Amino acid sequence: MTLPLANRIALVTGASRGLGRGVALELARRGAHVIALARTQGALEELDDEIRALGQETTLAPCDLRDFDALDRLGRAIFDRWGKLDILVANAGILGPITPISHIEPKEWDDGFAVNVTANFRLIRSLDVLLRASDAGRAVFISSANAHSAEVRPYRAVYVSTKAALEALVRSYAAETASTPVRIMAMTPGHVRTAMRAALMPGEDPQTVPAPEDIAPQIADLCMPGWSETGKLYDVKTKSVKSFQPPQ
Ligand code: NAP
Repeated sequence: MTLPLANRIALVTGASRGLGRGVALELARRGAHVIALARTQGALEELDDEIRALGQETTLAPCDLRDFDALDRLGRAIFDRWGKLDILVANAGILGPITPISHIEPKEWDDGFAVNVTANFRLIRSLDVLLRASDAGRAVFISSANAHSAEVRPYRAVYVSTKAALEALVRSYAAETASTPVRIMAMTPGHVRTAMRAALMPGEDPQTVPAPEDIAPQIADLCMPGWSETGKLYDVKTKSVKSFQPPQ
């Protein structure tokens, strides 16, 4: 039986744990060759073992997303080996400090923007030509309801500012590729049982929160060649595509 993502190349950032790991496994189950990017080599190797046990292959990309030159080299390496990229799941993100704005260290602010925003700009810059070379290039950027929620969250300024910037970046990229086969989506996963969620809500019973494997299939659905929406936001909680709207 031919799997639906057979012969498709997918890059997943933040694949070492949490949501990204779940998405990498789900894309592999659907037949994609997954390029798994994160800093923690041992965790990537465990993912590699698990994906090989499924009968699929991975390429590991141990890399710090703040090493922007490495992202340029990654694009070059993908071009040399495959000449195209079918799927980008830009999932990696950091929470940043939970503190009043006046207490945020400048380095914490810069790191938040480097990982959550600039790395995604650099990935687009490096990979756009490869996504356009696919017959059905798909990119999904993992945002947060915090980015646009009417209920403003205090003490998370790095996180909310970076995710709002990410959504603006996603919308610009979608507008620039609207007349091509490339489809670009932002998505909000809702609460997910990961290290990031535990850091934000240490008192919460993790078993009350959906696991990455519960959410991953919905992200993988946005990566399929048949996905047609672009420049919009997929919201996991309501399982629906939402349009961006001006403030009211
Ligand atoms: P997580 O468990 O903390 O995992 C984050 C992933 O990002 C890890 O694989 C980590 O790998 C990678 N990463 C972080 N900094 C990196 C860097 N400098 N270079 C390369 N990789 C880096 O977080 P998660 O909960 O799975 O979050 C995934 C995405 O979902 C994030 O964008 C987050 O904002 C979003 N989100 C999560 C929730 C939730 O409830 N969990 C809710 C809304 C949105 P290494 O440490 O190995 O590098």
